Amino acid sequence: MAQHTVTLIPGDGIGLETSAAMQRVVEAAGADIVWEVAEAGAACAEKTGTPLPDETIEAVKRNKVAIKGPCTTPVGTGFRSVNVALRKTLDLYVCLRPVLSMPGAGGRYDDVDLVIVRENSEDLYAGVEFEEGSEAASKLIKFCEDEGAGVIRPDSGISIKPISITATQNIVRYAFEYALKHGRKKVTAAHKANIMKYSDGLFLRTAREVAKEYEGRVEFDDRIIDAFCMNMVIDPAQFDVVVFPNLYGDIASDLAAGLVGGLGIAPGANIGKEYAVFEAVHGSAPDIAGQNKANPTAEIMSAAMMLDHLGELEIAERIRRGVRAVYADGSVLTGDIRKATGSSAPAASCTEFTEALIAAIKDQA
Ligand code: NAD
Repeated sequence: MAQHTVTLIPGDGIGLETSAAMQRVVEAAGADIVWEVAEAGAACAEKTGTPLPDETIEAVKRNKVAIKGPCTTPVGTGFRSVNVALRKTLDLYVCLRPVLSMPGAGGRYDDVDLVIVRENSEDLYAGVEFEEGSEAASKLIKFCEDEGAGVIRPDSGISIKPISITATQNIVRYAFEYALKHGRKKVTAAHKANIMKYSDGLFLRTAREVAKEYEGRVEFDDRIIDAFCMNMVIDPAQFDVVVFPNLYGDIASDLAAGLVGGLGIAPGANIGKEYAVFEAVHGSAPDIAGQNKANPTAEIMSAAMMLDHLGELEIAERIRRGVRAVYADGSVLTGDIRKATGSSAPAASCTEFTEALIAAIKDQA
């Protein structure tokens, strides 16, 4: 088996606990990984003055593959999101989030098997924003009025929503190629093209054009995002691969996670042509950080996706089998899953869960 060097960014809050658990599990499953630890996030900003040091970006570029814990982002004010900066700097244009029902995880459905493909570089996440009361905001408001584009109240803050043909072609093509490679039958594009004709309208039109290249091989349909959400709650099994502009994809990821047991089990990856950064969907969970209560499954399943990416398919599958066995057994599960299943059995700590998983992985040998 090959040795791989991977950049590990533990991040903030529960990231410290889930990353340590993930490392133990990956090693127990037999992967030969050299971990190069790098810093990012709020604690890093306090210590070094920046939430995303150049050395961290350099480390990811050098190793090409990273796994990261969540990074705290101040809400409303303060520094911009480390995650958004990383995705932009490394051109990680795909956010890939498989959502799968797992027996024992407390999901609302037992037949969900879909993949969220979220555009990761533009839309309202582009970071093009104008602060309320600033000279630039006033100029923009006047420009919109002069152009006859619409009247904006003078006390508005403004975030710009760019959606390009280039980025849409890239993400929709990725969704179709993913479907072909993984034997999936249908790609659905979610949008609000009825209201935002020049941004979401362009997304839908471009998606339809790309879909024509795959006619006869992969089906295509589209849903308005609000109807998509209702359909997800009523019958999520109807969806296969779903491709989204950035913001809807973010919201739909948490919705989908909630249907199969919660954020504690939802893995993900940010993928570009050169680099890939694997990370759970959840955030730094300040409410339970440092208490050994976090569910490390999401980061461990993200690591399994990373091992697939590194070509270590057997080890990745060993980890997934172990996770399924622990959930099916049901005797050692963290508090979030106890809550989702409505069970009054005692909640396992992050450490206890990790040890049960390592035992289940070793049992397979
Ligand atoms: P969150 O995902 O951190 O937490 C939401 C709820 O889910 C909390 O009650 C939390 O305890 C629970 N939860 C999340 N992950 C869990 C796990 N693994 N095990 C058990 N329970 C879990 O979302 P939030 O509270 O909105 O955000 C907290 C911080 O994280 C914010 O600063 C936000 O910006 C950041 N964030 C970072 C990322 C990332 O780095 N990729 C993603 C989302 C949010």
